[in-house]
Amino acid sequence: MATVKENILKVMSTIPVGVTLVAVSKFHPVESLREAYNVGQRVFGESRVQELVQKSQEMPSDTQWHFIGHLQTNKVRQLLSCNVALIHSVDSLKLLSTIDAEAKRAGKTVDVLLQIHVAREQTKFGFSIEELETLACSADLLLYNNVRVRGIMAMASNIDDDNEIRKEFRCVHETFERIKSTISNNSVFDIVSMGMSDDRNIAIQEGSTMVRVGTAIFGEREY
Ligand SMILES: *Cc1c(COP(=O)(O)O)cnc(C)c1O
Repeated sequence: MATVKENILKVMSTIPVGVTLVAVSKFHPVESLREAYNVGQRVFGESRVQELVQKSQEMPSDTQWHFIGHLQTNKVRQLLSCNVALIHSVDSLKLLSTIDAEAKRAGKTVDVLLQIHVAREQTKFGFSIEELETLACSADLLLYNNVRVRGIMAMASNIDDDNEIRKEFRCVHETFERIKSTISNNSVFDIVSMGMSDDRNIAIQEGSTMVRVGTAIFGEREY
């Protein structure tokens, strides 16, 4: 079996300049994260608050933590306590305003992405394209002084049809461009987080600037 080190070096070699690799380490032990860290990986993605908090205490302090899972409002305070660098998965205005309020309370500004729902599965969270465009056109996003909306995040359908996956990613990227052109303060609206182990190459071809790769680096997860 290939080691984490071998896997991640292979994945890294396929990531073009300008695309950030988020090593999705959920359900994997800290020893595996260290293997990735030791070959230079600094950005790690976790989907559960408790697990992120725990691992952030055990990993070197220059590790950057991204939160990629569904976030409950009552966990926001705990998440902000460990200097999360980016929250990918903001899927409601209620969550956005909670993050803003908690960030204000903690005296910080938090970078977030708005999650957009394009996949066929109803199980996936996120704003619809229409909701997101309405939100971007209204002044609502400007109300939040302690969050910076850096871009959008999406997951494609979990299917084998590359053409359909490509269509979904293309749609995400077009939505990103339209929103960027409507919002006034758009110089920091620069992240398109899309692409996982199986579809990252298509995502990159379609304009992803950030891929979230777990299995291809750490192997299968044991839940
Ligand atoms: C688990 C997860 C990933 C990583 O998926 P792999 O198929 O293991 O690469 C990426 N994004 C999100 C939102 C996830 O929950």
